[in-house]
Amino acid sequence: MIPCDKCRDRAVIYQRYSGKHLCARHFEEDVHRKVKQVLRRYRIFGGPSKIAVAVSGGKDSISLLYILKSLFSYRKDLELVAVAIDEGIAGYRSDTIDAAKIVAERLEVDIEIRSFDETFGITTDYAASMGMEQGPCTFCGVLRKNLLNRTARELGADALATGHNLDDESQTVLLNYLRGDLDRLYRLRPRKALEGMVPRIKPLRRVLEREVALYAVTHDLPLGTAACPHISGAIRREVKDMLNDFEYKHPGTKYSIMSGFDRILESRPPGTFRTVPCIRCGEPCGDGLCQSCRLLEKIRAKSLRRRHG
Ligand code: SF4
Repeated sequence: MIPCDKCRDRAVIYQRYSGKHLCARHFEEDVHRKVKQVLRRYRIFGGPSKIAVAVSGGKDSISLLYILKSLFSYRKDLELVAVAIDEGIAGYRSDTIDAAKIVAERLEVDIEIRSFDETFGITTDYAASMGMEQGPCTFCGVLRKNLLNRTARELGADALATGHNLDDESQTVLLNYLRGDLDRLYRLRPRKALEGMVPRIKPLRRVLEREVALYAVTHDLPLGTAACPHISGAIRREVKDMLNDFEYKHPGTKYSIMSGFDRILESRPPGTFRTVPCIRCGEPCGDGLCQSCRLLEKIRAKSLRRRHG
């Protein structure tokens, strides 16, 4: 048995970047400390608030809901509500939404479920079948963001928390560097509230993916296990493998990427991004027609051409 460096109980993890062995209790404490550190930056948990938590049913969002509930259950002025989006992916989403429902019920958190089919009249499976230039993940990601924001706003939430972990965030930063896409890079900056947009927060952004997975296992959280049939993103996979290799050889690499990125953001004045309501759906966007409506328009046009041609 390898003992915990803090209490001599059995260690459940060795953190290469900190050089510490931790038992289940001290591992939980460590994860909670990192989440609290991130939340302090958002300064949103100081007063009464309602936080919408996006739950997909995977390990990240389920652990996030559990962690926020554990940290704030004593706060009567802070309300959590889970939001699940059914993108219309047969054999996948119902499994993960079931897991989200079980956890929400166990934690006594209300869950709001919205679907692409009911809201937009098009599912991700249908979009995938149309063979659009933009793959199904673009359609799914853009519309999910739209529906999450819309739902969180309608629920009166002060913030929308998502389960992005340190691996997701460091991959995104590196991907944008590799593509030279500074606009997308700076869009990762936490934004002040914009008209119609619920501020997004990422409480797990300093927790490694493998630690989020271990958190879910050590807390016996039910997780959806089905895999999405549309999964793509070959470049992200390459970046993920490269970063994992670096992290193995040079523990702490992912933290360094994010710390460096945060310092770049601090030294750059925030932009003056403004939103206007989309002329079709009313959701906030940059130039009058939101990306969701553009994508939906393309799919509907292609669908019409197929039917008549
Ligand atoms: Fe949507 Fe792509 Fe994720 Fe599947 S893999 S849920 S299509 S973003």
